[in-house]
Amino acid sequence: MSVNAKLQSRVDGIINELTVSQEILNKGVDFFIKSAEKGLDNKDNDPYGLPMIPTYVTSIPTGKERGVLLAADLGGTNFRVCSVSLNGDHTFIIKQEKNPIPVDLMSANSADELFEYLAKKIGQFVNTHHGDQASESKSDDNKLKLGFTFSFPVDQTSLDSGTLIRWTKGFNIEDCVGKDIVQLLQSHLDLLKIPVSVAALANDTVGTLLSRAYSAGAVAGDKQGDTLVGAIFGTGTNGAYPELIDNIKKLPKNYVDELKSKGKTHMVINTEWGSFDNHLEVLPTTKYDVEIDKISANPGYHMFEKRVSGMFLGEILRHILVDLYREGLILQQYRSYENLPHRLRTPWELSSEILSYIEIDDSTALKASELALLNALRLPTTHEERIIIQQLTIAIAKRAAYLGAIPFAGLLLKTKALEGHNKEVDIGVDGSLVEFYPGFRAMLRDALSMTKVGNQGERRVHINIAKDGSGVGAALCTLSD
Ligand code: ADP
Repeated sequence: MSVNAKLQSRVDGIINELTVSQEILNKGVDFFIKSAEKGLDNKDNDPYGLPMIPTYVTSIPTGKERGVLLAADLGGTNFRVCSVSLNGDHTFIIKQEKNPIPVDLMSANSADELFEYLAKKIGQFVNTHHGDQASESKSDDNKLKLGFTFSFPVDQTSLDSGTLIRWTKGFNIEDCVGKDIVQLLQSHLDLLKIPVSVAALANDTVGTLLSRAYSAGAVAGDKQGDTLVGAIFGTGTNGAYPELIDNIKKLPKNYVDELKSKGKTHMVINTEWGSFDNHLEVLPTTKYDVEIDKISANPGYHMFEKRVSGMFLGEILRHILVDLYREGLILQQYRSYENLPHRLRTPWELSSEILSYIEIDDSTALKASELALLNALRLPTTHEERIIIQQLTIAIAKRAAYLGAIPFAGLLLKTKALEGHNKEVDIGVDGSLVEFYPGFRAMLRDALSMTKVGNQGERRVHINIAKDGSGVGAALCTLSD
């Protein structure tokens, strides 16, 4: 089956625009390092700097830690509570409960209503699963420690304090903004006499780093080098790594001195690399990227994320298909745009999960893709259309994975982690895209070897899945003192 020459030539043009060359990678890596340095400095709030948020986590687990820790995660629709029993040998046992958040609490009149509910759920969890530990540990410094993943914008001021900047994701409780959310949760735990101490404000990316650092080595031969980066490639993308305290210029000098007097050398930085290159100095930009940015919730921001993460890959393909239709090149049985299947006209309807099926479809006449597109978009396609859809899918995912290598190369080079005889480096990753998209990790590695990390360096980098950053990772944050 060959594709009509005009269509193929147009598609080749788009694929060409989506191709990430070695030159783009190298420029990207240099610019990433500069943006990271500016972010650590950030004297004048340089708009070209990455956020590079200090997390106050100053120790990385070794895998030998023991004991029972708690974690709680307030995300979009659920409040998850879990306990992690660390066995001290890189393994752990996790118990978890998921509580749907009552809709009326999301816009309650006062913060107390929400936080009383959260404290109660933690109390119930502790009673059910850790009744004995809890009753033994009522003295203040013997309470069960809890790492709180609070997935809203917070201005964190220490490991265990941070004020809410604004609500997102449908929450709206006026009197909570500007308050310390750790104190809010702690005060309600205390009121209910629940023997739990909120010891850390956690973040899922930092959690990914810590959870991989703890688990690496659980299987013989599984740990090769220290864990340098925790990264997420899911709905969004972000990464965290330990930075030398001396390099974090934006920390107050007296605080740095205090940390050093305690023998601390590093602090984990939450890079927020989804915001890399918001001014589009180096990132490849097609007209589809411009269109998607316009209809996104945060135009002008998270430009890196909009080319790399799971939320956007399907949307990029959808925009290209609509464009090819408008140019009279595909789906010409539909007489006008309004007649196209509704789902093909609906933003965010095409999930990157569907792209993952199309990517590896080797069935006759791409019948598996035909079914996937019918199911997902109610879109009937010809064999010719499916051939170009597969070509485009492969190009979109490859661009995402290649760009995804930029922060890895940037951090490897910036921290000089690979310097030294045969030094090896471990990277923990989490998120459906990197876990399930066929070949995503292999493409990431390909691109890594094309950067200054080189072939030799790339072979000494080990990228492993780190599960459950907001569970075990958040719990591990509480061990940083
Ligand atoms: P989150 O990042 O929201 O915590 P996930 O890590 O599961 O959750 O990521 C969700 C994103 O991954 C969505 O954009 C979804 O479309 C995408 N996704 C889910 N399954 C797959 C898959 N098999 N292949 C590629 N992408 C997937």
